[in-house]
Amino acid sequence: MSERTLAIIKPDAVKKHAIGDIIARYEKASLKPVAIRMMQFSMSTAEGFYAVHKARPFFQSLCSFMSSGPSVVLVLQGDNAIKKNRELMGATDPAKAEPGTIRKAHGTNIEFNAVHGSDSPETAKFEIAYFFPEMDLAE
Ligand code: ADP
Ligand code: MG
Repeated sequence: MSERTLAIIKPDAVKKHAIGDIIARYEKASLKPVAIRMMQFSMSTAEGFYAVHKARPFFQSLCSFMSSGPSVVLVLQGDNAIKKNRELMGATDPAKAEPGTIRKAHGTNIEFNAVHGSDSPETAKFEIAYFFPEMDLAE
């Protein structure tokens, strides 16, 4: 089933000049970019995006990191895009990520882990609308 997911190439990966490599990985996996936006998050944009993690001890640090430089935000479309992108990304902690994954290749630690990907259809819907309110969410 073709579906859409939200991906973010985080500020650490942009600083490491990994935008091209990461987008090539999406395309090779048949995750087609259907929207792309490069932007630097404000603190409040990061806080709103990660609101579900508000109570976590790393929340403020995560939001500072996410607003520390430009990110690339993408909507990816393809069969099983949400799960496929999570597999392509690898585990949250790059040290635990499988070989061949984006986080294994470009992540530094559990916080500076190169990419974001939606984890369910509900979060994908919220996250796509958060950055691309003009997108038609109907399939
Ligand atoms: P994922 O991005 O794999 O879905 P989470 O949703 O659990 O992971 O966490 C969101 C983001 O918060 C992570 O990608 C990472 O940047 C950061 N993070 C997660 N756990 C920690 C932690 N223990 N310490 C610092 N930052 C963390
Ligand atoms: Mg998550």
